[in-house]
Amino acid sequence: MVARTVTLPTGTLSTRAAAAKMERMEPPPPHAPGADAPGSPAEQESGKEQGALFDPPEPTAEEIAAGAAMAWETAAAEDRVVADVVLNKPLMDAYSYLVPESLRDEIVPGRRVRVPFGRGLRGGRSESGFVVAVRPVEEYAKERGAKPERLKTIDRTLDEAPLVDGKMLELSRWIAEYYLCGWGQVLSSIVPAGVKRNAGTRQLVFYKPTATGRAALDAGSLTKKQRAVMAAMIDAGEPVRADYLAGKADCGVGVVTGLKHKGFAEQVRQRTDVTEFDDVKIEPWTELTATDEQQAALDAILAALREREYATFLLHGVTGSGKTEVYIRAIKEVVEYGRQAIVLVPEIALTPQTIRRFRQRFERVAVLHSHLSDAERSKHWRDIAAGRVEVVVGARSAIFAPTPHLGLVIIDEEHESTFKQDSVPRYHAREVAEKRCQEAGVPLVLGSATPTLESWHAAQEGRYRLLSLLRRVGKLPLPPVVTVDVRNDPQVRKGRAIGRQLTNAVKAAIEDGGQVILFLNLRGFSPAVWCRACGASLKCPDCDVSLTWHRDKGRAVCHSCDHEQTVPRACPGCGAHELKYVGVGTQKLEEEVRQVFPEAEIARMDSDSMRKPGSHDKVLTRFREGEIDILLGTQMIAKGLDFPNVTLVGVVDADTQLHQPDPRAGERTFQLIAQVAGRTGRSSRGGRVYVQSSNPAEPAIRRAAGHDYLGFVADELRDRWDMSYPPYRRLCRVILRGPDEAAVKRRANEMANALTAAAKTKNLPVQILGPAPCAVARLQKNWRFHFQLSAENPADVRLLWRTVEPDFPTAGDVEYVVDMDPLNMR
Ligand code: ADP
Ligand code: ZN
Repeated sequence: MVARTVTLPTGTLSTRAAAAKMERMEPPPPHAPGADAPGSPAEQESGKEQGALFDPPEPTAEEIAAGAAMAWETAAAEDRVVADVVLNKPLMDAYSYLVPESLRDEIVPGRRVRVPFGRGLRGGRSESGFVVAVRPVEEYAKERGAKPERLKTIDRTLDEAPLVDGKMLELSRWIAEYYLCGWGQVLSSIVPAGVKRNAGTRQLVFYKPTATGRAALDAGSLTKKQRAVMAAMIDAGEPVRADYLAGKADCGVGVVTGLKHKGFAEQVRQRTDVTEFDDVKIEPWTELTATDEQQAALDAILAALREREYATFLLHGVTGSGKTEVYIRAIKEVVEYGRQAIVLVPEIALTPQTIRRFRQRFERVAVLHSHLSDAERSKHWRDIAAGRVEVVVGARSAIFAPTPHLGLVIIDEEHESTFKQDSVPRYHAREVAEKRCQEAGVPLVLGSATPTLESWHAAQEGRYRLLSLLRRVGKLPLPPVVTVDVRNDPQVRKGRAIGRQLTNAVKAAIEDGGQVILFLNLRGFSPAVWCRACGASLKCPDCDVSLTWHRDKGRAVCHSCDHEQTVPRACPGCGAHELKYVGVGTQKLEEEVRQVFPEAEIARMDSDSMRKPGSHDKVLTRFREGEIDILLGTQMIAKGLDFPNVTLVGVVDADTQLHQPDPRAGERTFQLIAQVAGRTGRSSRGGRVYVQSSNPAEPAIRRAAGHDYLGFVADELRDRWDMSYPPYRRLCRVILRGPDEAAVKRRANEMANALTAAAKTKNLPVQILGPAPCAVARLQKNWRFHFQLSAENPADVRLLWRTVEPDFPTAGDVEYVVDMDPLNMR
């Protein structure tokens, strides 16, 4: 142990070098002691290993040899080591601390510790952080030219073992660098809170026989009951609980403790899971014959898997082309190698249907979704880390699942913007997955019917390998799409949401025994409360956002901050009694549909009607079983559903996304229409799609109606090039906010000017765009300004930002956030 601690590879104190060191500190390979398969004697015998997520790294032969030399040369100084610790703060640098003698063996990279922080040797406060590197003290002194005596000392270790391994440390450092936030912030965000608190586990006492106990049994010197307990303990072959022994031997637990007092048995403390999970039934499954397109895609992925090489595949497959089947077969092979796969899906698509598709085919599937309790989440985390899970299926953060031998990562619906996190660290799971797969030397598969322009461009450039599934399974055609211009529709002019053509189509579909999906991406009853006299709409007092009328609550609600209020009788602007509810949200749509189709069974699905956990699944089950004729709702119903009896899809208003002040408005409109349209025509019954729009000539709508992804991307890429926009440039958005508008504006100008000046002196090809007020100029009482850094190479953005950042500590009332590769432009 001592040899290991003092003989870490040397390097500089910079975090970069510290991280480079960690590459040599991965968990041991499977044959090394301490990494035995779960349930093996090594694990059962040693209570200490229980609950351990990662075993500390074993020294290499080279390190041991170097350690001997070190001990011989610098026997006096070898005792003292310094640990670099990152705290949950927006800082890239680590802090150095002395490691007390008593903790020498426990302090390894990835371990959480408690340290003093602040002025004075003791520090004002105590903070927890992660150890990222450990080095001999003289090395620290040499590099820093500093006196180690002035360092503070680590207080204590947290947890029973390191929470992250060397690879995860490296990945988190990369995230911090790329997304311009603190290393410690990333680490504390990617390790679930439940894991840090060891939720769902408890220290329990177990008993095992001692040698004298065995001898006593052989010698026949025990009472009858003692003999029975002793025999049961030996039979068990692993430490067992006293009540278990008492049950087996039909006696009281006093006999067990009696044996312990005599030295015939000893106690072992182990951390044990206390959460229990239902056994999942694996349903029978008939193998499908892969289509030629599926087979070709699979062959390409398997070739990379077998070569153990990193490659990113872009699986462009139209809706219903059988992408999931390709994923599953690739995972099968990974599992056969004894490795694990991670499958990321948008949270909204984590339906029982999706989960069942994996559980049908794999025995040990862990599903990580946002409704897990801390205890469940930490149980999954431990199971995954111990290699007990074959497939991890989860939303964005599952990319950090601590699989010991990662074999493959899949991101389904890769175009979904929810793969980007909207709070620090503002990572995109696709970028993180790429990095993780590169490091692990394994393939990454990105699947979508409507890939992002970023991914499509990468495929064109050859960075990704394109695999195409252009036909639906079973030779089913893609559904015909009718674009309905609603500008002259008599019903829509009267204020109805559903025009004449769509009404007739719904009627026909239901009479024919089919089911209908109606999609509208606005929740609430009316999206605006508008004054006929002055033309202003009612706004949130705290945000620059129109209030939405929720008739069921009798209140107007801000969808940005959840502020609720009654609607005043008079317009707050002009005093006229002319306030009117305008527009149609899902609640009003529901009312209209109930009036027009009184016979039909109708269900609404949006975040208001689906508040209760499980209600989502309930509605989908009823829909599947044919109890619901018309399912209407927001994007909750747009994605991933596979119901063969849906013969009609109506897009009630295709224009809702189109006029957002966002350069991706067209892309999102195309994606949404293509996705909703994909919900129909999934059986021989066929299906049709009606898209209502006031802008039927818009390219995004026209191309989506023609199922013309290639045409759409060609147009859109040209526009992006003209606008110097991603994928041709990388953007970094800086958003400033504060209660005083003038102060926020001033700060934004200062920062933008400083960046412009620094770009010039450093000769960095980075453009600064703005500052300007954000599209939502005020949010939760704060005024908002933003500006953007734009460059071809993200490294230039990073370099520029890091030179200027220290001059702008968050001070006073103006705060700022930095968003690399932003998707949210509001
Ligand atoms: P996508 O994800 O591309 O929209 P899915 O993976 O949901 O498509 O597949 C659509 C349907 O086709 C599913 O019901 C699936 O079980 C079925 N399917 C997939 N591959 C095959 C195949 N080779 N033969 C028959 N049915 C298949
Ligand atoms: Zn608000």
